[in-house]
Formats: sequence, C-alpha cells, structure tokens
Amino acid sequence: MTRILSVASECAPLVKTGGLADVVGALPAALAALGDEMRTLLPGYRAVMKQAKPAKSVATFPSLFGGPARILAGKAHGLSLLVLDAPHLYDRDGGLYAGEDGNDWPDNPERFAALSYAAAFVARNGAGDWAPEMVHGHDWQAGLTPEYMHAMTDGLGDVPFVFTIHNIAFHGNASADRIGALGLSPTRFTADHFEFWGQVSALKAGLTGADTLTTVSKTYAEELMTPAYGMGMDGVLRARRADFSGIVNGIDTHTWNPATDPQIKTYKSARGKRPNKTALRKEFGLGKSDGPLCVLISRLTHQKGIDLLLDALPALTWRGGQLALLGSGDTDLEVALLERAAAEPNVSVRIGYDEALSHRMMAGGDAILVPSRFEPCGLTQLYGLRYGTVPLVALTGGLADTVINASPAALAARAATGVQFNPITAEALANAFTHLCDLYAQPKVWADLGKNAMKHPVGWETSAAEYAALYRQLLPG
Ligand code: ADP
Repeated sequence: MTRILSVASECAPLVKTGGLADVVGALPAALAALGDEMRTLLPGYRAVMKQAKPAKSVATFPSLFGGPARILAGKAHGLSLLVLDAPHLYDRDGGLYAGEDGNDWPDNPERFAALSYAAAFVARNGAGDWAPEMVHGHDWQAGLTPEYMHAMTDGLGDVPFVFTIHNIAFHGNASADRIGALGLSPTRFTADHFEFWGQVSALKAGLTGADTLTTVSKTYAEELMTPAYGMGMDGVLRARRADFSGIVNGIDTHTWNPATDPQIKTYKSARGKRPNKTALRKEFGLGKSDGPLCVLISRLTHQKGIDLLLDALPALTWRGGQLALLGSGDTDLEVALLERAAAEPNVSVRIGYDEALSHRMMAGGDAILVPSRFEPCGLTQLYGLRYGTVPLVALTGGLADTVINASPAALAARAATGVQFNPITAEALANAFTHLCDLYAQPKVWADLGKNAMKHPVGWETSAAEYAALYRQLLPG
C-alpha cells in the first residue's frame, strides 16, 4: 500500500472548472480499490470550506504569504482531504482563478505558491498521524512543490514528486522581482529549475523538479515534446523523455451510467437512446430532421476548435444534421454561436454551465463533437462512448488514443467507435461531417458504431493500475 499526497487546485465534485477536477476527484477511489491511500490537498476556497467537514487542524502557520493559515484534515464526498485554510488567499467572491471581471487574480502566484508550500510541509512533517510516502502534483498550481521541498530538506531526504500535466497552456508565470516574496531561492532562478525567459514559471519548476512526469494520454505526451504543442516547454520535456509518460484519464462510470442516470430515460443499449433524443430536441427547440443530432459540451475557446465548427457546420446541416451546443467562454464565440442558432433552425445553443443538461445531451445525441486543436485527454468523447453517442473528434492528444476511426478496415472488423479528422482544419471537419452523415444513413453500420462505443472500456481500472505501478517504482526496494 502506497500513501500518496495529491495536490491540486480543483477536485470534483467540490470545485471544478475542467477535466483536471474530474481526474483529481476520481483517482483516490480508483487507487483505494488497488490498496493505495491517496489524500488530496486543496485550497480552502469558500466552496471547499463549506463541504469539508468535520475538519481538524493539523498544522498552523502564523503567516503564510501575507496572513495566517492552517491545514485542516476533513472528509467530503468520500474523499480524505487536507484543506489549506488561508482566508486572505481563498475566501473571496469570484472564480477559482479569476475575479468576477474575468481577470486573473493578481495574487495567483502567491495563492498557489501557498498550496505548493503546504504540500512540501506535509511531505516533510506529515499531517496529524498521517505521512505521505510521495507527492503527486497536478498542473502549475502544484508546480513549486519540489522547490519548497528542496528548500526544507536542502535536497536531502525529499520524498518523490510525481507531476502530471493536464494542460501545458497555463504556465503560472510571475515576474522575477517576486522571487523573494514567493520564498524561492534566487540561486535556483536558472534554466535548470524555475526560470523561464526571465520569469518565474511554476510549471517549469514542476517539470524540472519532478522525479517522474506524466500527462493524460500517450499521444499528448509525444505531442508535448514538439514545438507545435509544447508551448515553449518542449525542450524541457525532451530532456526528460526517459521520465515522461502518458496515462489516459478514465471517467466516473457511476455518475456517467446510461443504465442508472437519474437525468435521463435510462437504457442499456444504444437503441434506448431514442426517447432521450426526442426529449432533447424538445428541450433545445429543434424540429424533426433526417440527419444525426450532434451535441457539443465545452469551454468555448480557440483550443476547442469552435471557430472551425462554425465554418464547417453547413456540411452537417445541409444533410439534415442538427447541433445542440452547451458551453461558455470567449464572448466573440458565444455571440457567433448565438447568431448562427438564430439564423439556422437546425442549430440550437445554450450559453452556460449545466451538468444535468450535459447528461441529457449525452443520452439524447447521436454524436458528440470534439473538434479541438489540441486536447490533452478530453472527457466528453469518453462520456459519449459510454452512452453510445458516437464521437466525432480531431486526431490529436487523447482524442487520438480513445476513439477508433470508422475506416473501412475498422468498420469491417466491427471495431470502429467514431470518426476522426486530420488535419485540424474546417475543411477536414466538413469532410468528417459528410462521413458522419453517410454512416448515419446506414442504420446497421450506425448501430454497430453505437454498440462498439458502449463496449469500449472508459473506467479508471486500467489507468489507476498504471499510476499505482508508477508510484511503486519510485519507492525504495
Ligand atoms: P477541459 O478540461 O479542457 O475543459 P475536458 O473535456 O477534459 O476539457 O473536461 C471538460 C469537463 O467539463 C467535462 O466533464 C465536461 O462535460 C465539462 N463541461 C465543460 N463545459 C461544460 C458546460 N458548459 N456545462 C456542463 N459541463 C461542462
């Protein structure tokens, strides 16, 4: 049994803005099934403080980055939590990373330096009667952990640090004049440690300081070592190739289970989707049509290829295909989508974040669209597989690893689960819509796709075993 401290800035179902939260929330139970014990250190945002009860103080800091703080041990939703209660950093209106005006909190470097410091503190001193054998940090918010661990032990006797990249786009940079305020060592402000083009990079600190690096799919791991995807960190990652691997995410197959989902008319085979489709059309104000009903649930950003979708959409709608879209994000994309929906009866758009609706969409849609320019793992295509909702995805990252393209050979072998397109352009996406409509027009072929999709394993079992094996390799003897 390995004892692991997980450190992250979000964790479902307590606080979530994206897929990171799902992974951090699901891994402890998946590992527990294999005999490992994971506790999760989170910032004491208001939502976390409300849910983590009863909470017992296991460490106090008279002053941590500008105010008093303590670490509380508690439980919520079956998770064993350590919560960094630091009201001056986390007790505020607004989002996890940005205020209500949409701008990043100016003290984000300190807010997540504090989280990383608390992780290093627990690694060194334990938390109450529990002491981790290693730390597993996620994304830049946990990236400074090895720096603080190194400072606390002078590099001697650090426990191993595993670092997982969920999205390389966020570097957690701070200007160099904050090195002192962040409690970092100026002698380590070098390209080997946390210096990145003259700035402090929390992400780079994690990439250089970790004993082992992972990301959330094998294809994304390979992509990250190329200039096109590495966002400036490709060289750092190439240098660490021997320690870098991809482990694809699973999904929570209890929450996402078409046979029991309380949001839908439950079903065990893709044939059972029909009443959900009727209900979904009604909910989105879409009429009857001959083509596939496509759904998309996403942050609305350039990464997610929403602009490509807008350009390619006529290839779907002229064949009678429909689109029901749920998302929020960049204002210009929201506006463009709403304008399209107003002009095109086969397109309907909901701006917002709505988990219950996302379940009904997954059950009612024929196909789920994920036209991302890059996608570390992607979760909605996995929900789609589970619900027999055929994924149409860009050939990148985890989308490449989790969907089997409906090539003639894969169709003949009855292995195909979806449609992939490459290169990631509006033209290729339009061609993929044509392919999708052709497949949909052949009821036997389409039924096979749904059946194959629902057979594809999407739970955590395999991936949790890969993490457990990786942890064991880091322990002595
Ligand atoms: P990312 O982490 O890049 O946003 P992922 O596909 O890995 O993308 O994870 C996104 C998660 O957030 C999924 O669980 C998805 O269902 C959910 N999600 C995204 N946007 C919405 C929305 N508007 N309403 C409900 N759920 C959403």
